[in-house]
Order: sequence, then C-alpha cells, then structure tokens
Amino acid sequence: MSEVPAPLVVVGAGVAGLSVALAAAPRRVLLFSRAAGDGATALAQGGIAAALAPDDDPDQHAADTLAAGAAHNDAALVSRLVNGAPEAIRWLAARGVPFDREGSGWQLGREGGHQRARIVHAGGDASGRELLAALSGAVATAPHIERREGWTLRSLRLQDGRIAGVGLARTTGRGEVQIETPDVVLATGGIGALFAATTNPPGADGAGLAIALAAGAAARDLEFVQFHPTALAVPGLRPLPLVTEALRGAGAVLRDAQGRALMAGVHPLADLAPRDRVARRIWSELRSGGEAWLDATALDASAWRQFPTVRSLCLAHGIDPRVQPIPVTPAAHFHMGGIAVDARGRSRLPGLHAVGEVSCSGVHGANRLASNSLLEGVVFGRRLGEWLRKPGVSPRTNVAAQSVVLAPAAAEPALLQLREWLWQGLGPVRDEATMRHALARIDAHAGLSESWQAGLARQLLLSAIARRESLGAHHRVDVSPDSSIHQRIATPAYGENN
Ligand SMILES: Cc1cc2nc3c(=O)[nH]c(=O)nc-3n(C[C@H](O)[C@H](O)[C@H](O)COP(=O)(O)OP(=O)(O)OC[C@H]3O[C@@H](n4cnc5c(N)ncnc54)[C@H](O)[C@@H]3O)c2cc1C
Repeated sequence: MSEVPAPLVVVGAGVAGLSVALAAAPRRVLLFSRAAGDGATALAQGGIAAALAPDDDPDQHAADTLAAGAAHNDAALVSRLVNGAPEAIRWLAARGVPFDREGSGWQLGREGGHQRARIVHAGGDASGRELLAALSGAVATAPHIERREGWTLRSLRLQDGRIAGVGLARTTGRGEVQIETPDVVLATGGIGALFAATTNPPGADGAGLAIALAAGAAARDLEFVQFHPTALAVPGLRPLPLVTEALRGAGAVLRDAQGRALMAGVHPLADLAPRDRVARRIWSELRSGGEAWLDATALDASAWRQFPTVRSLCLAHGIDPRVQPIPVTPAAHFHMGGIAVDARGRSRLPGLHAVGEVSCSGVHGANRLASNSLLEGVVFGRRLGEWLRKPGVSPRTNVAAQSVVLAPAAAEPALLQLREWLWQGLGPVRDEATMRHALARIDAHAGLSESWQAGLARQLLLSAIARRESLGAHHRVDVSPDSSIHQRIATPAYGENN
C-alpha cells in the first residue's frame, strides 16, 4: 500500500501565502486563513515595484532598496528580489491581475525613495484588492489546493526537534483540527494592529510571530517598524485609511498649519523622501502642537482619476481633497522584522518556514522601500512554494511529541492600553526612558502581563532598547547622532543618485 504524502500546510492567505500555495503544485496544499481578504494585502494601494521603464534597471531598484533600508539589508536577497520583479509582474498579469496600462505598456507610478517611476498598479489605487482577487481565483481552480477559511493558528506540534504538525481552531464557535505534516509555512502578516495608530487591519496582530517564537524560531530585527507618514487623521478610527504616497508622487505637498512646505530643507527628495524621514517630520510637528496637511488641491482631474480610493475615503469623512487639504498623521504600517529566515524561507526550527511580512529575511533592511512588500510576497513566496513541492524530513515517531500552544489573549480594554503604550514607546521617535516605562506598565497590568500580546510587546521593546543607535525606521533621540550609521549611509546615497 503506498503512503499518502504529507500535505504542505500554509497559514495565511495574503499575497505571500497564496503565492506559496500556487507554486507548490502538484503537492497537496492545505491553505488556512482567518477570513477571506482580511489581511493587509487587500488594503495595498500604491502597487508593486519593478524596474520596467527604459530608463530603469534592477541595479537602480536595488540601490534605492538599500538606501531606504540604510544598507542594513541582505544585499544578495535584494538582488534576487529586484531581478525577480519584472518576471513576477508578468506572472501576476498571466493570472489575471488587470494592471493599469499606458499605450502598449504598463503605467508606472513613482513613490517615496524611488529614483525612477517603477510602481505597477491596478484599478488605480486598488492594487492589493485586484491582486488578491486574481490570485484567489487562481487558487480556487487549482486542484492541488484545499482552501479553508475561518481558522486560526493555535499550536505547533514538535517532535524530534522539528515540526511534526499544526493545530488550528475555528474563529467562530467550537472546532479544532490537528494536521500531521513536516512542513508548515507561516504567512500571517504583520503586527501593526498592536499600535494605537495603524493602517493595518485588526488581524495584523502578530499571533503567527508570537507562536513561532514560543516554539523556538528565532526573531530578527524586531525593532524595525515602518510608520506610514500619511494616514488620514480621523480621531478614534481603526485602521486609519492610508493616503497613498503616490499622491505625493503626483505632486501633492505636505504643509504645516501656516501652509509652509513641511519637507522643504529636510531632505533632498523633499516630499518623496524615505518614509521614516517624512514620518518623523510629521510626528515632531504634531508633538509640538502643530498640524500636518497633505495639499493635493493642485492635482488636475486626470490625476485624480488615478486615486479613486483616496478620494472616496476622504469624501466619506467629509473632506473633498480636490479643494481641501487632507489632515494626516503617521501610523504603524509595516514590520521589517519578524521570524528570522534564511534565503530559502527556513526558520531556525526545522520544518517551520515563514514568508511575507511575518518573516525577516533581511531583504528590507532597516526600512522597507515603498511597494517592495507585495513584491517580496510574490517573488519569495513562489520560490518557497517551489522548494516545498517535495515533503521535508519527517520526525522520528519514537520520541515524545509536544504541542506549543499560544498563551491566552488579553481582553480588549487591556489591549487598548497596550496599543497606546507601544505607540508612545515604539513610535517613529524613541528613547529608552519611554520604552522602559511601557515595559513597566505592561508588567504591572494584571489583565495583560500573562497574555501572548504582552509577551510579544516585551520582545519588541527589548529589541528596540538593545539597539543603541538610530538606523532606518528605528530612531533614537537619546543616543548620540555619531553612533547613527543611518546618517552616514543614507543621506549621501540620495545625494549621489540625484
Ligand atoms: C493600507 C496598506 C497599504 C499598503 N500598500 C502597499 C503597496 O501599495 N505596495 C506594497 O508592496 N505593500 C503595501 N502594503 C504592505 C503590504 O500590503 C503587506 O506587507 C503585504 O500585503 C503582507 O502580505 P502577507 O501575505 O505577508 O500578509 P497579509 O496580506 O496581511 O495576510 C495575512 C494572512 O494571514 C492570516 N492570518 C493572520 N494571523 C493568523 C492566525 N493567527 N491564524 C490563521 N491565519 C492568520 C490572515 O487571515 C491573512 O490571510 C500596504 C499595507 C497596508 C496596511
């Protein structure tokens, strides 16, 4: 009797998980997620970066990626990412992503930190939604994939020092499933929902990262959190709608309450400076009692046709951005850190793989270049799927197995506090006293301190305290600027390329 090969279990069905699942054919894949389209992928507006213009090439894309990442990136992986980009766009187009066209080619936008127009988009600023729809359609017709929605990761089963299976629970009501497999891929997205101000959906809570670390995977670069400089500032709203950077690429200007250009003299690229620089400028303005507005009133009607999502989001909150400036605030947006993985997506725990925002391969360095993360999900997700076509090594079954279960979750009122402390302590501008204060408050909170969210928050704070320098998105005001290699590397790189 021939044995049925173990399935590949993929947890997470955003761009990364879908790409893994599709590429793993013909191996049987069980693809789990909490809910359809609940991840960050559906919210992506700007698009995907690829060097496709005649005046562009992957080396320039790599140079911009390294400059944004403060050269903290893994250069070999950056090269793999940018060289894989044009083919990734063709692969997506072949799966039905309706990229916006201009003449005989694709329309290319420009975003912060990019020296060239290289952002491919779909449905104007509905790129993520279109991408998700096309890949979900491809998954629905792929005979090797069994898709299961309404499940949340609960445990990882370990045996013989490696992954032996995974446990998932129903998100609504009762029901659990245990699956034996030597290969689990976590593609569970980022951690933005742990912050008071965020552009991330509620599901970007870091549960996948927390359970991987509890099971023995290593963390990397946890302190690097990117803050999007321009979320729509609507008090009390979660997530905050994103006002895409592409709007600044099309000519919108950040202004203070007096109408002065906020980024003038701050960086050679002014409004298109890397996100951390723009976010810190706005954070300082707001902290000192000022205001920050994005003025897009000079855009003409044809430019506005590219931004239907931003326009309708603003209108829904009583702002007509064609004639009024848009109030903006920084917000937690993307996690560069995560489960440490090697070039093949392998964590330290044999059999446990990670890809997409939950992972940290080092490709984004200390700060992600805009529109490189959907790209990461496609390029690295497909490669990982191809590698996992063959089942990995099964554990010896004559040794004891153990299940690592996620600690209990905190209740909502405690989480509200946690988000505020993380926002104050791990926001765009940091110092040790505020971070230690956040740690102490978390430890002293009876309803919070034993939760998995508190455990993860501690690891984030301790990583940020341990890095005693300013680098990329991690900006410390309590360390001497001389210890900041960011200042030495990032600024000249922009000057030279201009
Ligand atoms: C508003 C916004 C705009 C953005 N715009 C762009 C852009 O224009 N270009 C760009 O490149 N990037 C953009 N990004 C970043 C990009 O969208 C994300 O980094 C990327 O989509 C992450 O993809 P992912 O597959 O790793 O995770 P996600 O798309 O977040 O998917 C996570 C999946 O994991 C599942 N999941 C999570 N936790 C669990 C659990 N515990 N158990 C079971 N399942 C779980 C979820 O159900 C979901 O299916 C944007 C992000 C935001 C928030």
